[in-house]
Amino acid sequence: MNGREYLLHVLSEKCTGCGDCVEACPMDEPAIRIPEVSGGWDVVVCRHCSPAPCVEACEFGALWVKDDGTVFLARELCTSCKACTAVCPFGAVFLGTTGEMVKCDLCKGKPRCVEACREGALIYDRFTEKKALMEEKKPVKELLAFRGLV
Ligand code: SF4
Ligand code: SF4
Repeated sequence: MNGREYLLHVLSEKCTGCGDCVEACPMDEPAIRIPEVSGGWDVVVCRHCSPAPCVEACEFGALWVKDDGTVFLARELCTSCKACTAVCPFGAVFLGTTGEMVKCDLCKGKPRCVEACREGALIYDRFTEKKALMEEKKPVKELLAFRGLV
């Protein structure tokens, strides 16, 4: 698998706030959150950016990009300094209630949140420019940059 081809697509406008994705997350503290925003829900989860601002910000080598493109957080190296939180454009890496940083690891390529979502708000699939147009209503150029495609 090439992580730059298979990516997590987030379509917050389809989210109904049911919480199934949050329940399905196998992490000790769910790495996906769905805060209510005006007129709907915002699905907050790591997009595994390329290049990833959090990886560049971490002075302790606790964040890196795996061969499959997953941006991985090694808790044993993490000091919870929150430098990654400060630069993440999606609010997707955060200090959990136990004092450890929390971030999605894509469930080794089979994200449970995607399986759990009945609304199609989470898609794990090949990246295409068309999907970028659908996604998050962000400027396509910005999304392509996050995906390392421009
Ligand atoms: S991809 Fe896996 S670890 Fe990440 S939020 Fe979804 S269920 Fe949780
Ligand atoms: S900057 Fe945020 S969204 Fe991008 S890889 Fe890091 S934690 Fe994930």
